[in-house]
Amino acid sequence: MKQTGLLFFPAFDWAITPTHPEREERLLYTRDLIFEEGVMDLQEIKEYQPRLAEIKDIARVHFCIPDIESQILKAHLIAAGGSLVMADAFFNKEIKNAFAIIRPPGHHAMTVSHGNRGFCNINNEAIMVEYIRKNYGIKKIVIVDTDVHHGDGTSEIYYNDPDVLCISFHQDGRTIFPGTGFIDELGTPQAYGTNINIPLIPGTTDVGIHYILDNLILPLIEEFKPDLIVNSAGQDNHYSDPLANMRFTAQGYAKLNTKLAPDIAVLEGGYSVETALPYINLGIIMAMAGIDYSNYYEPDYKSFSESPENMEYIKKMVNIQLENFRNREDVIAQNKKKRGKLIQDYKSVFYDTEFINEEQYNKYRVCNKCSGYRMIDSTAHHRDGKVVRVYCISIPSNSCSTCQEEAKSAYKDLIENSSFFDYIYLQDRLGDEYRSTNMKTNIEKVL
Ligand SMILES: [Zn+2]
Ligand SMILES: [Zn+2]
Ligand SMILES: [Zn+2]
Repeated sequence: MKQTGLLFFPAFDWAITPTHPEREERLLYTRDLIFEEGVMDLQEIKEYQPRLAEIKDIARVHFCIPDIESQILKAHLIAAGGSLVMADAFFNKEIKNAFAIIRPPGHHAMTVSHGNRGFCNINNEAIMVEYIRKNYGIKKIVIVDTDVHHGDGTSEIYYNDPDVLCISFHQDGRTIFPGTGFIDELGTPQAYGTNINIPLIPGTTDVGIHYILDNLILPLIEEFKPDLIVNSAGQDNHYSDPLANMRFTAQGYAKLNTKLAPDIAVLEGGYSVETALPYINLGIIMAMAGIDYSNYYEPDYKSFSESPENMEYIKKMVNIQLENFRNREDVIAQNKKKRGKLIQDYKSVFYDTEFINEEQYNKYRVCNKCSGYRMIDSTAHHRDGKVVRVYCISIPSNSCSTCQEEAKSAYKDLIENSSFFDYIYLQDRLGDEYRSTNMKTNIEKVL
């Protein structure tokens, strides 16, 4: 019998501020419950220790401004490294599935990272996915974000990637951070339909969420046929969570993991640290390990019924998203025909924890042989008046040689001919090489 891998890294010395919800003792009660119940000694469980992620593992996903070292602490390297340990154990077939209970969290960290957003600096799931793609040659991946907040970082990182299906259900962005995650955010024109959002009315219960799971998420996964399923596992949909307004229970979360059967789950949010988080985490462990949890409830368990109006809304949304997903190949083919060589978009990104306003102009090359490279012109306005403008070029791991060559020469041209930028970056996932040039000193670093 293969076991479930479990890795626990609570980062007891890392907090945003002493009173912040993402604080040191967030996993204290989870640790107590795991050790009191003797979970690590169960024959169904195999315990793992984290290691440090390498700087290159992070460069494969992010442009950290000005550089990775100044953006992160050791805790980030251990949390990201913990998910890589779980990935190695899974792909070396030591275990049947894995749950990395780690912090700091990561799903709000986007490709460009000027600082902390939504408690995240680097994206643990994306770092793991790119590591897996590089080391184990996996192509199609599904990431299901079960956190109450829109997994906007993960979604942004894979917005132009048709091989990664990002599904996020969350409390409606009009009522909660980060304010995004609506049903019309479906991916760029050449990855259309592979970014599926399910915004939920506050107060949605187990019934509504399981309807979506059974009628949308599971059918989508079956049709997409991924090589890997990742649960970006946030526990803040719980009815007692202080940061959100949903009515999900520990049983609801456990059953979700039984049905979803993720290969790897990575912890995200969950701020009801004493009365819910430990029980949800333990419920997920039991579900993944195949241990009976039918009589397992949080101490103040409440059951809720779903309103008929909300069920109507949910059914409508499920049908719309099924159609968007099923039409994706036709829409992508049409888009590639009618578009020119470039897709362009503009967005502004707010960093709630560090009060940074970022303006971003994106260009994606449209390519019939690969998903095309991406160019990002990003300006960050910091709280103290400091303005940093950078240019980032990203070559995807499935890049064709034409796109790779074009992107590399664009990087060289910019360094020689542009005076607008503080830093210029090149992320070549195909060649696994990462460059950055400080335009004031003209010093280039290569990873
Ligand atoms: Zn979500
Ligand atoms: Zn969250
Ligand atoms: Zn190409």
